[in-house]
Amino acid sequence: MTVPQWGVRVPARQGEEMRQALIREGALDASLKLIRNGDLLILPVLEQREGAEWCEFEAHPGREPLPRHELVGGIAIMQDDDPDGAQKLLASRPSLHTVVFAEGEVHGEYRTREFRVLAGQSTTRTQVTEHGFTFNVDLAGAYFSARLSTERQRILVHVREGEVILDMFAGVGPFAITLARIASLVVASDINPKAIELMLENIAQNRAKNVLPMLADARHLDGIIPWQFDRVVMNLPLSGTEFLPAAFRLSRPGGTIHFYSLVSVEGEHVARIQELGGTVLSERVVRSYSPGQWHAVYDVRVGE
Ligand code: SAM
Repeated sequence: MTVPQWGVRVPARQGEEMRQALIREGALDASLKLIRNGDLLILPVLEQREGAEWCEFEAHPGREPLPRHELVGGIAIMQDDDPDGAQKLLASRPSLHTVVFAEGEVHGEYRTREFRVLAGQSTTRTQVTEHGFTFNVDLAGAYFSARLSTERQRILVHVREGEVILDMFAGVGPFAITLARIASLVVASDINPKAIELMLENIAQNRAKNVLPMLADARHLDGIIPWQFDRVVMNLPLSGTEFLPAAFRLSRPGGTIHFYSLVSVEGEHVARIQELGGTVLSERVVRSYSPGQWHAVYDVRVGE
């Protein structure tokens, strides 16, 4: 018997790397067998993502399909209020300590959401390990998305030694601490005191001696910081556009801005970026958001 599910194609030689990345994100559907198709593998994933297609998979015998969930460290986030499913999930992985139900959408200036614990320990705090870093996270207190781990690594590849970087919406510090592996200095700012508190823990935990945390509203950063940056990360997809002029003022001529935004047409922000003196080097889909809307990242070169 086959089961319909989303699948992502990868060259077979990258299959294990991709499988591990999907497990880390909690995106792999472990109840289904992967499909081999010549030099390609199709890996089953729990929800739609960039490049995913609807496929028919064989189920692993004896493995009951688990309820839909997203993994963040030791916490599984369920979209359905299903206490029995939560118990099943908890029993399915020794690394899980808590299963929560997301009671609402990400909202407000701090981009947080409310959760109700369905199984396991009564906490929204956990530790997330990604690419050799460990981040303390409190899902109810500050934003964190494990799905951005690939993005952090993509940007890290572009960072050169000696760079001075600004992360304008740094949250608990995952971009800042990752990029500090190569950069000279990363200024990591956020308006949420809880995010900064967790960021301080994460800086100490990852021994990132070149990250400067800052509790600040990004609206005021160009008045507070007297220098310009080689690279600016802007990860506030719903309202980042408002902060583009400040990001340009804070970038040195020839510097780079990574601007994340929720868009509904390709090229949505190109004219605005050009108006500010920037050149769009690339525009990529990060993930789908809702039908007809997706998170995009614009890599921008600031005019000389
Ligand atoms: N970059 C982090 C990450 O990837 O985990 C967090 C990104 S989250 C989508 C956006 C962050 O921007 C939140 O932590 C929120 O508190 C912060 N934020 C929202 N408005 C802000 C503002 N005006 N100034 C500074 N930070 C702000």
